[in-house]
Amino acid sequence: MSIPFARISLDGNEMRYVREVIESGWLTSAAKVQELERRFARAVGCSHAIAVNSCTSALHLALEALGVEAGDRVLVPTMTFTATAEVIRYMQADPVFLDVEYGTCLLTPDILREAVRRRPQAKTLIVVHYGGQAAGMLAGSGGPGIVAVCRENGIRIIEDAAHAFPAREGDAMVGTLGDIACFSFYANKTITTGEGGMVTTASDDYAARMRVMRLHGIDRDIWSRFTAEKPSWEYDVVAPGFKYNMPDINAAVGLAQLERAEAMRAERQRCARFYLDRLADVPGLDLPRIRARHEDHAWHLFPVVLNERSSISRDRCIERLAEKGIGTSVHYKPLHRMTYYRKTYNLRPGDFPGAEKTWRGCISLPIYPSLKNEELEFVCRSIREIVGT
Ligand SMILES: *Cc1c(COP(=O)(O)O)cnc(C)c1O
Repeated sequence: MSIPFARISLDGNEMRYVREVIESGWLTSAAKVQELERRFARAVGCSHAIAVNSCTSALHLALEALGVEAGDRVLVPTMTFTATAEVIRYMQADPVFLDVEYGTCLLTPDILREAVRRRPQAKTLIVVHYGGQAAGMLAGSGGPGIVAVCRENGIRIIEDAAHAFPAREGDAMVGTLGDIACFSFYANKTITTGEGGMVTTASDDYAARMRVMRLHGIDRDIWSRFTAEKPSWEYDVVAPGFKYNMPDINAAVGLAQLERAEAMRAERQRCARFYLDRLADVPGLDLPRIRARHEDHAWHLFPVVLNERSSISRDRCIERLAEKGIGTSVHYKPLHRMTYYRKTYNLRPGDFPGAEKTWRGCISLPIYPSLKNEELEFVCRSIREIVGT
């Protein structure tokens, strides 16, 4: 058997919508982008959705719209992809790295409160909904949520929702829980446009700024220049903006993916349930902890952790799985271990016990809609054989 770590599902209307774009003769941002923005805003239940060419661009636009300046401190969990922190450096601001909870890999209100006490200057947080599960944004059994801690301390919130579409916390969709949210449509994310992303916000002001900065700081986008009343050559530049717009071909793929987003999520949930059932009693293996309902989880990742009782190391386990044809990955080598961040900010592993305990043993298993039960069975049997002896 050969089971890759990721496999893209492009078996809906992707080809049809892309053909429409090619036949229209208009390849840059136009009707398909506008339609994707409309539909994505409806899916998330927010007033504004702005399509961009990556989640990294989305995060950059979000920080810019919030007015983050050189020398500012921005709170960010260490257990994430480098894009989450690099955008802070784009603004010449400085990341303050936070630990995560073992089991969920999420930031918690307690970790945040402690960080705020030590670094009261930090007035912006980028929270990561790791693996597709919403961080504890709202009040729960354990007291106030992340949003309340931020409001108390005048901290603005950007959601890094690259893993978390579609995902919920209670009745609220991820994408409506902070001030601005950023989604990724990179090839291996839960829905894809090849490369692409989306920003959502309830704020008219942030939305207006991000729309302008998305395309060179021009006061209205190219498409509306050709359809509005004013002469087509006339536009103004109000800021040195970026080139972050999404092309219509990508939006066409995104529209087809969006139609199947809930169905694909349900298939990933099937995979997750399978793993949770069949791997529950493997000695030395910790399964991901689920905070709430399975239906709320986007299930982008299924990360397991080999704990100190495991008879085999993480690296060796990955090799053994690869020998059996099973692709896996690691999410993540934490940012405090990456040369640039470690050296620039003088970071020490001892300050990140939750992330360290995870990192030593974490392996992400394949999880995608086309993964068959026989394949899941084979992965589980292989893990039992390799780890559970
Ligand atoms: C993939 C990812 C990003 C970046 O997404 P791009 O669309 O590739 O720019 C940002 N944050 C996290 C947590 C990611 O996994």
